[in-house]
Amino acid sequence: MQTTQAVPTELLRRFDVAGPRYTSYPTADRFVEAFDAETYGSWLAKRSLGGMSKPLSLYVHLPFCGSICYYCACNKVITRDRGRAAKYVRYLEREIDMCSELLAGGLDVVQMHWGGGTPTFLSHAELARLMAALRCRFNLEERSECSIEIDPRTLQMGTLELLRELGFNRISLGVQDFDPEVQRAVHRIQSEQQTLEAIAEARGLGFRSINVDLIYGLPRQHVIGFNRTLDKVIDSRPDRVALYNYAHLPAVFKPQRRINEADLPSAETRVQLVSLAIRRLTGAGYAYIGMDHFALPSDQLAVAQRQGRLQRNFQGYSAGPDCDLLGLGISAIGQMGPTYSQNVKTLEEYYDRLERSMLPVLRGVELTADDVVRRAVIQCLMCRFEVPIESIEIAHLIEFRKYFAMELQDLEPFENAGMMTLDDKWLSVTALGRFFIRNICMVFDRYLRAGRERARYSKAV
Ligand code: SF4
Repeated sequence: MQTTQAVPTELLRRFDVAGPRYTSYPTADRFVEAFDAETYGSWLAKRSLGGMSKPLSLYVHLPFCGSICYYCACNKVITRDRGRAAKYVRYLEREIDMCSELLAGGLDVVQMHWGGGTPTFLSHAELARLMAALRCRFNLEERSECSIEIDPRTLQMGTLELLRELGFNRISLGVQDFDPEVQRAVHRIQSEQQTLEAIAEARGLGFRSINVDLIYGLPRQHVIGFNRTLDKVIDSRPDRVALYNYAHLPAVFKPQRRINEADLPSAETRVQLVSLAIRRLTGAGYAYIGMDHFALPSDQLAVAQRQGRLQRNFQGYSAGPDCDLLGLGISAIGQMGPTYSQNVKTLEEYYDRLERSMLPVLRGVELTADDVVRRAVIQCLMCRFEVPIESIEIAHLIEFRKYFAMELQDLEPFENAGMMTLDDKWLSVTALGRFFIRNICMVFDRYLRAGRERARYSKAV
C-alpha cells in the first residue's frame, strides 16, 4: 500500500535545478539541421531493415489556441479565427500521406497522442476529418492508447462524446491551479466547475484514463491556495496527475514576459509547494511514477511500472511497447530507429515545404554508440529506478565502471544523501531518490557535462 512520502525540504532546496525531462536523449536542443528531410525520408524507408519493425506511435501537433496563457512554453498559434484550423488539417493530411507512403514496415499503431496548442480548438467536423485521414493510412485498434489534450474552456456540447466515438480513450486536462488570483496572474481563467464537469463527463463516457496537469511555481501561488487546489483535484480522483515545475525563462518564451516577476513565489515557497503536493498525492494513494508523474495504483502506468515494462518517449511515460514515433504537424518530434527529428516550427514553413512535396523536417540527430548506451541508462533510471549493470555491459560492449568512471564519482553526493546505492550488479535508486530522478539522470548526460566543463573553462580564463 502506498504511504505518504515526506521529502526533506533541505534536499528539495539543494536539488531544485532546472533540467531536461528526458523525453529523448539526446534532448531536442542537441538536434542539428544537417539532419534534413532527405535523411529523415531514408530512415522512414529503412524502418523495417532486417525484416523487423517496431510498432508505431503517432503524435499530432495541433497548435491553435484562442487565448494566451502567460506561462506557456509550447509551440502554439494564438488566434480567434477558427477558420485557420481547416487549412492546417488539409496540410496535415498531405504530411500523413507522404509519411505513410515512405514508411516501411507494419502500420499498426499502438499509441497515439494529439497535443498542442489546444486540439479542441478544431471544430467537430475537423476533428473527425483528421481522425479519418489517420485511420485511412494506419491501423488503429480498439486497444491502442489514444489520448488527447483537452482545454475544458473550449469544450462544446458533445465534444467529449465525439472524441470517445472517434476512438480516444484517454484525456489530459490542464488545470495548473484553481486559485483565481493565480489564474488572473497567468491569464488563464478556468472555473473549477468547467474542469470538474469535464472530468465527470469523461468518466461517464468511459475514458480509460484521465490526467490532470498542475504547475507549481506560478505567480501569486501560495501554500494555502495550492492546498485547496490539491483538495479538489484529489476529490475528483483523476487516474494520473502531472506536477510540473514552472521555469521562468522570459528571454526564451515571450509570453512569460507578461508575468510580473515580483509575483513569483520565493525559492522557499516553491519548495513548500512541491513538498506539499508530494505529501498530499502520495497520502491520497497515488504512486510516484517518476519525472513529475503520479498515478493511481490501478492505472496502466502504475501497473506497467510494477511489472518493469514502463517506457518513456516524447509523449511522456507509456505502458505500451517500445515504438517508433511518427511526429506530425508543426514542431512535432519523431523517433525513428536510432534517430530523432523535429518538424519546422511555423505554419508558413510547414505549408511551404508540403507545397513543394518535401517532408517538413527542420532538424534531427542520428544517435552515436555513446548516445545509445547513455539513453539506455537514462531510460532504466526513469522507468525502473534501477540500472542492471551486467545487461548494459553485454548489450553495449562496455565495462560499466570504467566507461562511467566520472559519472560514478559525481553520483557520490546522491549516494551519501541516501538517494541511491551501487553494487557490482545494480545501480538502484531509493524511494527518496525517486523524487530526484531528473538530477540523477543529468549525471549521465554527456552534453550537459560538456556544457558544464566549457562554462568552467571560460570562467577559469
Ligand atoms: S498553455 Fe496550452 S492553452 Fe495555454 S497558450 Fe499554451 S498551449 Fe495554449
